[in-house]
Amino acid sequence: MFVDQVSVYVKAGDGGNGLVAYRREKYVPMGGPAGGDGGNGGDVVFKVDEGLNTLMDFRYNRHFKAKRGENGMSKNQHGKNAAPLVVSVPPGTTVIDEDTEQVIADLTIHGQEAVIAKGGRGGRGNSRFATPRNPAPDFAENGEPGEERNIKVELKLIADVGLVGFPSVGKSTLLSVVSAAKPKIADYHFTTLAPNLGVVDTGDQRSFVLADLPGLIEGAHEGIGLGHQFLRHVERTRVIIHVIDMAGTEGRDPFDDYLKINKELEQYDEKLLTRPQVIAANKMDMPGADENLEQFKAKLEEDIRVFPISALTKEGLRDILYVVADLLEQIPKTAPQLEETEEKVVYRYQKEEKGFEVSRDDDGAFVLSGPRIEKLFKMTDFNREEAIRRFARQMRSMGVDDELRKRGAEDGDTIRILQFEFEFVD
Ligand code: GDP
Ligand code: MG
Repeated sequence: MFVDQVSVYVKAGDGGNGLVAYRREKYVPMGGPAGGDGGNGGDVVFKVDEGLNTLMDFRYNRHFKAKRGENGMSKNQHGKNAAPLVVSVPPGTTVIDEDTEQVIADLTIHGQEAVIAKGGRGGRGNSRFATPRNPAPDFAENGEPGEERNIKVELKLIADVGLVGFPSVGKSTLLSVVSAAKPKIADYHFTTLAPNLGVVDTGDQRSFVLADLPGLIEGAHEGIGLGHQFLRHVERTRVIIHVIDMAGTEGRDPFDDYLKINKELEQYDEKLLTRPQVIAANKMDMPGADENLEQFKAKLEEDIRVFPISALTKEGLRDILYVVADLLEQIPKTAPQLEETEEKVVYRYQKEEKGFEVSRDDDGAFVLSGPRIEKLFKMTDFNREEAIRRFARQMRSMGVDDELRKRGAEDGDTIRILQFEFEFVD
């Protein structure tokens, strides 16, 4: 299988901060708490779009950040939730967490969605903390940070377009000059002769997968050599680019070449001849190519388009690629083989949040780290005395104080968390 793979960073939106506010009413000097909650941060969502068939878009954009939620407002008004950031992916996309190697999602069917990074919850406003003992709390919660992760996005590629033609007509050269991305070839039986794949970017938001199918020689349909193996790939392609050496550099006749290759295709499978074909008349930069092209066209009976190109000087490439992309748009995909056998599942992998860890810095300071304690820290508004006291209580109930004591922390020792420091008070 051919696998295209890109590394991507996703960050969901942070929740908006909760607000500390009090009611202001006529004749009431200081009312009860009225600070609203922050809105939730936006999720990063991947959604299947069957119109896509490559990961090309990810080559230009590898960072995806959703917006943060709005902060809470006075009069107990909620901040607005942020809309999710929806990223379109082709069917057959697998998303893997780069750190844990776990599969986060397998996206196969059109319209299917998976949350890849969850937006942070909005922080609660001060009215939510009111209790009979503390009817006017002077603190609110900051928004929860949105999830962030490095992911690998993978797509198993099926060639949309196959390059056929005699050896040395310029197939490999053509593939190398038109493909923007070279996918990985994994577990192919004949690695040394594996067809080369490339992702072609037509420059107008369209892209397709092009395969160079070498080894297509006389006798291939009988399984002689390895040509047979490659014909199996031709079977799946929707358009065939027939590359012809118009300069006849190997001493062969271009039209003769054309007939022979088509005969090969036909003998392997008659259906292949009904596949739309375009002719890439290559090596037009060479002397004699123009005359040969005229003769070739005169002999050609089928209604088939011929594009004079030079893979070497890159002339004429744009036209042929556009026409191929147009053809592909008209032909439905016939190769859902990948999905047929596989179960259609979307996983949503839950990160297990460790509480905290204690380590020592060189200067002797105790360092607290870990997702849960860091989240708690980020959700605390350290400008407010009451919020700080609440943070201290939360740490105590998580067992942080006990652990620090066990590790030898004493009154006045420095405790560090992220870039902040405070003193241990026993
Ligand atoms: P393949 O066997 O069909 O893959 O052919 P290659 O891509 O390996 O090309 C065979 C030879 O033809 C190489 O020496 C290329 O440099 C040369 N070649 C390919 N395309 C052109 C072209 O457009 N013009 C000229 N002059 N030479 C070309
Ligand atoms: Mg080659």
